[in-house]
Amino acid sequence: MHCPQCTGYTLEPKLLDENLVAASCPKCEGALLPLLNYRHWVNQRDADVEKVDVEVISEDVEHAKMCPKCSRLMTKFRIDLRTQNKLDLCTHCDEAWLDKGEWKLPKQLELAGQLPKIFTEEWQRELRRQQQINRVNQRYQNTLGEEDFEKVRLFKEWMEQHDNTAEIRQYLLLSV
Ligand SMILES: [Zn+2]
Ligand SMILES: [Zn+2]
Repeated sequence: MHCPQCTGYTLEPKLLDENLVAASCPKCEGALLPLLNYRHWVNQRDADVEKVDVEVISEDVEHAKMCPKCSRLMTKFRIDLRTQNKLDLCTHCDEAWLDKGEWKLPKQLELAGQLPKIFTEEWQRELRRQQQINRVNQRYQNTLGEEDFEKVRLFKEWMEQHDNTAEIRQYLLLSV
């Protein structure tokens, strides 16, 4: 198998973690990880939620990659809103491509053991929902200024926990 990023380089077996083998490129240090191996590896470990504190964010290359195994185009998946990094998945082979350092990302983000979940529609939908909320917040923060926006946000929080949320909402709408 050839590296999807570096021409002329062949993928070689490499240990990503104890007992977890992937096919890795000796040049860019990217790795092709069969999700089957990964699931097996996760199941063998006891719920390991160790938090890793390492500063590894690789420059993510935006263009689509070709699966080293079957040459089909891989699909990009956002991991989390805290990072711009995207993981590539070949849905045909069920194998993920991790750029150099990306193996450590799910661990860093306390998502260890959740790699396959990232590739689900639910995960991606939730990310889009959060992103939408962030965008709305950002917009009103810009319009109102940080201080006033914070007041409104706190009021909203208070209102949502109130027993008469609907009443308050109605009052706000009708009393202007
Ligand atoms: Zn490479
Ligand atoms: Zn493939």
